[in-house]
Amino acid sequence: MNWISNYVRPKINSLFSRREVPENLWTKCDNCGTMLFHRELAENLNVCATCDHHMQLAPRARLTALFDGGVFVEVPVPAPTQDPLHFRDQKRYPDRLRQAQKATGEPEAMLVAEGEIGRTPIVAAAQDFSFMAGSMGMYVGNAILAAAERAVALQRPLILFSAAGGARMQEGILSLMQMPRTTVAVEMLKEAGLPYIVVLTHPTTGGVTASYAMLGDVQIAEPGALICFAGPRVIEQTIREKLPEGFQRAEYLLDHGMLDRVTHRLKLREELIGVTRLLLGLPPAIMGDLPAPAAEAPSAALTPPKGGDVRG
Ligand SMILES: [Zn+2]
Repeated sequence: MNWISNYVRPKINSLFSRREVPENLWTKCDNCGTMLFHRELAENLNVCATCDHHMQLAPRARLTALFDGGVFVEVPVPAPTQDPLHFRDQKRYPDRLRQAQKATGEPEAMLVAEGEIGRTPIVAAAQDFSFMAGSMGMYVGNAILAAAERAVALQRPLILFSAAGGARMQEGILSLMQMPRTTVAVEMLKEAGLPYIVVLTHPTTGGVTASYAMLGDVQIAEPGALICFAGPRVIEQTIREKLPEGFQRAEYLLDHGMLDRVTHRLKLREELIGVTRLLLGLPPAIMGDLPAPAAEAPSAALTPPKGGDVRG
């Protein structure tokens, strides 16, 4: 309920519970059953090398792979009131939160950061499905608002990676109120004329699909991602009909005009740089060898050596 339990304790927990993996660990692909060596899997951004199945990727690993040189600065997110409804199912809500903080090493289900991609300054937010199914509660609402406010203050585009089972039932109506709240946050970006790009990852469902996850100027999804409001099982039971093959998967939604792109995770960074620069009216970035900084750029500390033209 105070600064110590909301901020200090999760930080201390995260120091001791970083996901340390032994050297000889193998992970089984959920799709094809191949045993994958964890280090190779991490280098491949959790994409199965055999069948291209996209497994979940933690926000910190995702943002490290996204930003230039893996460098980013976290944007602080104001902590909301904890457990306002004193919710209890089999466990108390604060105990569930603590358990998720310990398992993930993160304070909550969304990470917000600022940095550069292909020398283009952006703000990014990534949702963590492994934290209570990435559920949208007051913290996630605060995170999206903080991300949008930061993007407007710095006049930068916002890129959001969604992954959620929906609203957080432990926060009841307060979690549902995050739907209009995050919609207003997106509206702030639109009023400021800043691009808002959404990358839908597996799975993005419920109230998240019904708010900020479907409001992007450009909607990109990862292959095979389930994207829906109500899940296929619920629909089948309601209409008592068999649903078509691949219903509510990224490729199906692309075919039916709900998405702009379905992009492989290993090509995502390049695509996001391209789309961002296109929307900002900037020339395409030179991939691989980055262009030398312009003289007036704020990051111009690295001036090219005299005499030679090192521009790419
Ligand atoms: Zn596989």
